[in-house]
Amino acid sequence: MGKINQLPPALVNKIAAGEVIERPASVVKELLENSIDAGARHIEIALEGGGTELIRISDDGCGISQEDIPLAVASHATSKLADVDDLFSIRTLGFRGEALASIAEVSHLTLRSRVVHCESGYQIEVRGGKASAVHPVGHPVGTTIEVRQLFFNTPVRRKFLKTPQTETSHITEAFTRIALAYPQVAMKLTHGHRILHDLPSVDNWRERIAAFFGPEICDALIWVEDQQDQVRLSGYVADPAVSRGNNRMQYLFLNGRHIRDRSLQHALAESYRGLLMVGRFPICFLRLEMPPSLVDVNVHPTKMEVRFQDGGRLYSQLLKTVRHRFLTTDLTAKARIDASHGSQGTAWESPATWSEVPALSGAARSEDRHWDAYAESMATIGAQRSLPLPDSIPPFQPFPTGRMGGRATALAGEPGGTSPASDEESAEPGSDSADQSPAPLDSPTSSPPETGHPSSVSPLGFQIHNRYLVTQDDQGMVVIDQHALHERILYEQLRHKTASRPLETQPLLVPEPVELTPAEAAAALEHQEMLQRVGIGVEPFGGDTVLVTSYPAMLANMRPADVLHAVLEPLMKGGKAPSARDLFDDVLHLLACKAAIKAGDKLSAAEITALLEQRNHYQDAHHCPHGRPTALHFSRQQLDKMFGRT
Ligand code: ADP
Ligand code: MG
Repeated sequence: MGKINQLPPALVNKIAAGEVIERPASVVKELLENSIDAGARHIEIALEGGGTELIRISDDGCGISQEDIPLAVASHATSKLADVDDLFSIRTLGFRGEALASIAEVSHLTLRSRVVHCESGYQIEVRGGKASAVHPVGHPVGTTIEVRQLFFNTPVRRKFLKTPQTETSHITEAFTRIALAYPQVAMKLTHGHRILHDLPSVDNWRERIAAFFGPEICDALIWVEDQQDQVRLSGYVADPAVSRGNNRMQYLFLNGRHIRDRSLQHALAESYRGLLMVGRFPICFLRLEMPPSLVDVNVHPTKMEVRFQDGGRLYSQLLKTVRHRFLTTDLTAKARIDASHGSQGTAWESPATWSEVPALSGAARSEDRHWDAYAESMATIGAQRSLPLPDSIPPFQPFPTGRMGGRATALAGEPGGTSPASDEESAEPGSDSADQSPAPLDSPTSSPPETGHPSSVSPLGFQIHNRYLVTQDDQGMVVIDQHALHERILYEQLRHKTASRPLETQPLLVPEPVELTPAEAAAALEHQEMLQRVGIGVEPFGGDTVLVTSYPAMLANMRPADVLHAVLEPLMKGGKAPSARDLFDDVLHLLACKAAIKAGDKLSAAEITALLEQRNHYQDAHHCPHGRPTALHFSRQQLDKMFGRT
């Protein structure tokens, strides 16, 4: 080590540039943000060579005056902050005053700008940090910045750049994030002669989303909205029928800035629990608006991450809002049939994929309270993953008759029990729906009216191929997968039951020794307590053998050893340690799956009716616990169209 040197400003800027300007996409992000901050209504970006040869951005914003132009490209010069207090009330996207200086340090930058009431525009050129004099130039009101030869003087950076296609795709993502946050701003992105995006100014957010992601996503969007004190949450979440294999389509905006937030992503995932298959991720476009004093945006070089003053409350607000919305929305998968199947070979307009349930059923309403309690507990413990299940249990109705009646009675332990759910439902006050269904603002004009869409299916149906039930609701024909639906219902019942007490068990007069693999034996004993909650008693018996002392009454027709093997399977799956709650959930899924009627089981009319009636009591009944739909819906309108009646 040697003497300590004060670094020359040019080097300081290069180091700073390294933090903010990682690749062409970072330049595009910074320049776009400046244009937005300048109040632009129209922005055009032209690229060449994936942005490494040229990035040119033109806007019709407020412009920069002749005397401010040299300052704009100087480091730590900004028009957006005056003193320290301002740092806690930031309403602009930029505030550090280092982006232009950093970019100019590592490129050939030309800036032209004109402010209103000034008859001339002015230009400055900066090459590797060395600025020219400012001179007049013709330019409309607004600003144009050209960045050429990015990283020409930082060969290491340049070497790390990927192919122009890859850099362009990063730029497109940066462009998408900002364009999604500002639908009123018309924006165009071109690469060479190719137009990548040409977005008109729109008032309706949905239209901007559609411009990027097309009708399939757009039709699946469900409006959510909630205001708590000074924090407003609004936007869209996608019907679980449309999901992704990663979380890249979770767009979250805080006061107009795209952010990533682990905790909020987790809240979103929780709100979709049981509605998506394993490994699938929800899609969302959500805006958070709050006073700038409630959040610190100055914690990350590119401001991608922020620090909320009350993250726990936000977590709970997001979870509750989305969950509540799902409870009031009919998520039955709507049939999508290829155009060629239509009688005239014409494509039909994509069916609306969701409709409102006018009023919550009793079961749903207590589900809702239960979610409130759950969301609160999640929030207070700071969104940790291992959680006790909530202990308020919504009432449920056992199957009244037949084989399923038998299963359900064993499960419920309340033979002939009353049905609080249906009692409550018949006492449903009609006015309830008003405050239950939030009124969309920026809202889905293309979606169906908010009320008058009962989703209940008729309890009269018939079975085909011993696996599907065919029935109807107000809107059309519903085809139900009998196994998936029964599994979902059993799972819900199990979840509610086990929340308060262990499941009924069938004690074994003679405990049964079961030989396991060493890993299975270890898992069985490690999760002894959890297994007890679902009625499976296990005791060590020496070596890799365990004694099964009891097993769930609902699985009376299975051998205890098979039950144990089956249940151990989800407990053994490797990978990153799943939480106790996830494991327990897996076990419940498994029990539900094993106990449910199978595809191929013939059902009596009474059993069909019982199953269909059950469906109307469970808000999540449109998806099985693995996230597969339990039913397909063919609207009457679609049927009419297919038969050429319209
Ligand atoms: P910051 O955005 O953090 O203030 P920048 O280095 O990005 O810092 O920009 C410096 C200053 O240059 C801004 O504060 C603003 O006054 C001015 N500026 C930059 N781009 C534009 C633009 N497109 N239109 C108007 N003014 C701009
Ligand atoms: Mg800026």
